[in-house]
Amino acid sequence: MAELPEIIIFSRQMDEELRDKEFDSVDIVQEKILNMGPSEFAELIQGKKVSNVYNKGKWIFIELSGNYHLLLNLGMGTDLFYHSKGQEWPKDYQIRFSFTDETGFSCRFWWIGRSELVSNKELLEHKATKDIALSPLDSDFTLEHFKKLIKGRSQIKNLILNQRKIGGIGNVYIHDILFKAKIHPQKLANEVEDAQIEDLYGIMIENLSDALDKGGLYYEKDFYAKEWGFTRDYFLVAYNEEKPCPVCGTTIEKIKTGSTSSYICPQCQQL
Ligand SMILES: [Zn+2]
Repeated sequence: MAELPEIIIFSRQMDEELRDKEFDSVDIVQEKILNMGPSEFAELIQGKKVSNVYNKGKWIFIELSGNYHLLLNLGMGTDLFYHSKGQEWPKDYQIRFSFTDETGFSCRFWWIGRSELVSNKELLEHKATKDIALSPLDSDFTLEHFKKLIKGRSQIKNLILNQRKIGGIGNVYIHDILFKAKIHPQKLANEVEDAQIEDLYGIMIENLSDALDKGGLYYEKDFYAKEWGFTRDYFLVAYNEEKPCPVCGTTIEKIKTGSTSSYICPQCQQL
């Protein structure tokens, strides 16, 4: 699943490649990923130009001329591929966009994804994105800001995964972040000590920046269909159940934490 590092990379690549391109047409295979009827969608996007691409949490925001945004959500994973002029299109896709210069891009959502066209006015009230919180790699995401979020009787893992509190972290990077901070995923937020919160803050940013530097998670591909460089060798406890903890040698466990699974070292991360 694409998380913050992958979404940032996509946004950067798309911004660089697509700026000033003008939409010519759209080929829609799966209508339910849209927020309107397919003909309305196609008509609205035609002639609009890309002015900027950025991300908000796990959503990609493609700012268009005419006061519109095209919003993409990659769900559990997506082949989101650029198409250069003359290149063969991928066979499988749910939607593909063509520009007037005969380049384009296509999306094949693995499970569920969204492709929504909203006016800038509608964007202010757009349910899925309007409350997305600051992401750890945003410059305003300070330690003070983070400290204010870590409170109450929520389990710490659920709190970090809550997109209304912290944007961009899903159920992949979280395992090693909590492991490095020596915090059990089910520990209640108000029981995490101040020093641990400070550690957690630094580790979270460091971990996500590192994944960004390495080019994102290996099991997905970038905008140019190139594999990303954060391979499973970099995981410490994540997806390593039954293997020894890299710090103390205790066997790593996979446990149920509400609707998600977690990988922990029961010795290093005690409740
Ligand atoms: Zn350990």
